[in-house]
Amino acid sequence: MSPLSAMVWQRLTGLMPGELNQGELSWLATPHRHLSLLARRRATLIVNRVRLFAFLFAVLTPMWSVVDFIVFPFPLWRELALMRFAACAAFASLLVYYRSNGDLFNAYRAMALLFAIPTVFYVASHTLLTYYELTGMSAAIGAGYAFLPFVLLAGLSIFPLTLVESLVVASPILICQAVSGYLRWAAMDWPSFAGAFWLLVLITGVAALAGLCQLAFMIALVRQAIRDPLTGAFSRSSGTEIIDLHFTLARRANAPFAVAFLDLDHFKRINDQFGHEAGDRALITMTESVSRQLRHGDVLARWGGEEFLLIMPGTTIEQAETAIERVRKAGFGERPEGGRVTASIGIAESRADRASDWKDLVELADQRMYRAKQEGRDRVVSREPAEAAAISA
Ligand code: GH3
Ligand code: MG
Ligand code: MG
Repeated sequence: MSPLSAMVWQRLTGLMPGELNQGELSWLATPHRHLSLLARRRATLIVNRVRLFAFLFAVLTPMWSVVDFIVFPFPLWRELALMRFAACAAFASLLVYYRSNGDLFNAYRAMALLFAIPTVFYVASHTLLTYYELTGMSAAIGAGYAFLPFVLLAGLSIFPLTLVESLVVASPILICQAVSGYLRWAAMDWPSFAGAFWLLVLITGVAALAGLCQLAFMIALVRQAIRDPLTGAFSRSSGTEIIDLHFTLARRANAPFAVAFLDLDHFKRINDQFGHEAGDRALITMTESVSRQLRHGDVLARWGGEEFLLIMPGTTIEQAETAIERVRKAGFGERPEGGRVTASIGIAESRADRASDWKDLVELADQRMYRAKQEGRDRVVSREPAEAAAISA
């Protein structure tokens, strides 16, 4: 990056709410690298917003019938009232029957339904209104029916969406508007159509920006909620959520799933001899060093004081042993009195160890870590004694 573009980039990132770091900035563009915890929370938030709006529209849509009744001729009012009633029923069903399951596609579907209902209403009411010659107040209220695409696109701003997601949602509405304008080109007042279309594009831009700001804020909040403040590793509660999710997925796919339990050796001595701050620094160094060795998808969680759980989805026991060897080779940092920081490590894998749930798996890794301590520390235990003996024989 040239110094100028680096400066512009730095200025821009400084302006982002919550001050996202470099890696997180790319999450604003597309959702495909989002952490599973972020994806799940975002999916739930989107569905909740959809249901909130479904509630508001279920109430407001029929209420506007009163205005229609005052200004429109009776036959028009009756047909519009029927459409409003149908829309109200659709919004109410969305509110009552739709629930989040934490899946992003489920959230997309909820948004698609929320946008589909007013779109159908818009096309139907718009078509109906063209059959009536309205004047005065009724013409003014009738013109209001043409505002729906604007409301829909402005409504995008309530969702924490990535740039690509906002564009995907907005483009069908913009394309429909453009096509309907093109079809009526000869008969209509094109400067006012072009002006309205330009306004629609501007509203889309502002709504997409609002969505991005919400997403950035959400990323920062989720990070704070899921990370341990000292080391930046995942906290125990988010580690629990991640392991629960991945264990279930691995079970379903009959895929391997490994965990490693790490406990630093003689850590108390660092605190006792050099103070708590030296201990804290050692924990930070250790986390940085281990994190550098992990592959994408592996998760390091701080399970307790100087105990960490390494979660490795899609990893067999042999692959986990290799990964841990790599981590040990990179080291855990230096002790203040000299010499290396070492760790005792227990590894367990769901298929090899026939674990029925993730708690058993973690318990087994913890027991093996304890055996590593008993056998002299600074080592890895990944099998039961009988198995290990059979392999070495
Ligand atoms: P070993 O595991 O090898 O048996 O010995 P140990 O000295 O590591 O023993 P133990 O696990 O019992 O002690 C852990 C120590 O870690 C106790 C506590 O003072 C320290 N510790 C826990 N959390 C923190 C922390 O956040 N910061 C610092 N500085 N120390 C911590
Ligand atoms: Mg300990
Ligand atoms: Mg220890």
